[in-house]
Formats: sequence, C-alpha cells, structure tokens
Amino acid sequence: MAAFHVRSVLVTGSNRGIGLELIKRFIGKPNPPEVIFATCRDPEGARAQELKNVASKHPNVVILQLEATDSASIKSAAKKAEARLGGTGLSLLINNAGVMPPSTLESASPEDMLSVYNTNVVGPLLVTQAFLPLLKKAAQGSNQKGMSCSKAAIVNISTVLGSIEKTPETFSFVPVVSYRCSKAALNMLTKCQSMAYKQDGILCTALHPGWVRTELGHFHPNVQADLTVDESVSGLMMVMCDLSEKHHGVLVSWEGNTLPW
Ligand code: NDP
Repeated sequence: MAAFHVRSVLVTGSNRGIGLELIKRFIGKPNPPEVIFATCRDPEGARAQELKNVASKHPNVVILQLEATDSASIKSAAKKAEARLGGTGLSLLINNAGVMPPSTLESASPEDMLSVYNTNVVGPLLVTQAFLPLLKKAAQGSNQKGMSCSKAAIVNISTVLGSIEKTPETFSFVPVVSYRCSKAALNMLTKCQSMAYKQDGILCTALHPGWVRTELGHFHPNVQADLTVDESVSGLMMVMCDLSEKHHGVLVSWEGNTLPW
C-alpha cells in the first residue's frame, strides 16, 4: 500500500458510516494525503461531532459543508477546496454520500423516487462538475503514467443493488426500488464520466462496498449486515490502491472483483 500515495482526497458524506471510516483510513496511511477534505451537510450539528474530534487532531483534515442536493453549497465547497489546495489539483474525489429509504413497487411515490435520485445521482453529477477543474489539474500536474487514484480519479460509491444483471439474486430480500433505480443510474453516470474524462487521464470507477453495518445498511430488523465498516473500508482501500485503466468505467466490489452492470 505504500505506493498508493494520494496527494489530496475529498469524501462526501464523511461524518458517519463508510465516509467517516475512509477519512480515518486516509489519515492513518503511512504516507497520508497533504489535504483530506471531509465534507458533511451540517458541520455544526451533533452528527458531525466525531468527525470534528478527528479533524481537531489532524491539521491535514479540512471539514467542508456540502449538501449534495444544493449546487450553491457544492460550488462554495469547491471554491474553498481550491483555495486550500493553493494551485495544486485534487487527486481523488469519492462520491460517497447516499440515502436508501424503504421503497417497494407498491409504496414508491414520485417524491421518494425523485428525492433519492437527487441525492444519489444528481449529487455525484454536480459534485463532479464542480471539482472537475481540480481533478484535471491533478492529472495534468502528475508525472505518473496510466490511470490511478494517486494521479486523478473519481470513485462513485455504488452498490450491487444497482446492477440490473444481479437483481434476481437480491430483489426479494432488499426491494428498495427507488435506491436500486438511483444506483443503476449512478452506474450509468460512472460509465458516461469514464467516456468523457478518459482523454483527461481521470480514472472513473464505481465501487460496491459490500453489505455494511451502517445506518443505511441496517434495513432488516432481524438480520445483521455481512461486514463491519472496518472490513468493508479495509477492502475499499486495497481496491483503490490497485485501480488502473482496466477498472475505468467498471463496477468493482470491495474484494476487487468486477461486477456486471
Ligand atoms: P450512512 O447512512 O451511514 O451514511 C450516509 C452518509 O451520506 C451520511 O454522512 C449522510 O449525512 C450523507 N448524506 C446523505 N444525504 C446527503 C446529502 N443530500 N448531502 C450530503 N450528504 C448526504 O451510509 P453508508 O455509510 O452505509 O453509505 C455510504 C455509501 O455507501 C452510500 O452511497 C451507500 O449507497 C453506499 N452503500 C452502502 C452499503 C451498506 O450496506 N451500508 C451497501 C452498498 C452501498 P447525514 O449524517 O447528514 O445524514
């Protein structure tokens, strides 16, 4: 993992769950990033307290307010990040923020469908648009050959539940229709980004973190999720370390396996 050196990283939805653990792992690397942007919706709220405690001990962690459904908030975060980076680019953008409210074919409402789409798809689209100039700058400023998270990358945290081919294996256990549709769209967004940003040398990959014991992962009252946050994020860090051209425009699991769209 020592070769996996990311100069700067931004993680959305980093006040809890997988996002918070990603921040902790980047801090704990033997060669940590110079800047770690940890974004959350409400940095002053009680739900950001653990992140604030972490940031207070690590001057390379910068907390930025970012609401994924609010373009003004995203643009403001991008401006602040640009100022903090002082002329260097952003190496790695991790679109992690997401929601999964209960939703079946019978219960799904227009409001539910649109609001989940807004957070899980429009959010990553807008965040990527706002940070693209900084990602391009990182790619241009790097002397590394090929594609990697160390050079310049967009990682969209998706799920196997958005895989159309895999749906028969999981549908009856986790119907969550609005979430499935939104993550299928996020997978398409990842593919589109991979087509558009290939020429810029920016790696674009969707990652499936497994079924993880977070608030979002706790949807079944009687069954515990497969993975601890620790196990999932250990896998994600190892996978990100190894991502290259062959993972460009691909959905990859926390174990490093390519999953079908
Ligand atoms: P959590 O519910 O623990 O955390 C979700 C995070 O997203 C929180 O920080 C939350 O902030 C943030 N968030 C939600 N809506 C917005 C928004 N509109 N703007 C900004 N931030 C927002 O979930 P996980 O950590 O489990 O999920 C992280 C990602 O992993 C998601 O994209 C999810 O789809 C994906 N995933 C998770 C799986 C699992 O089993 N847990 C399985 C497959 C994929 P706040 O505290 O303000 O609500």
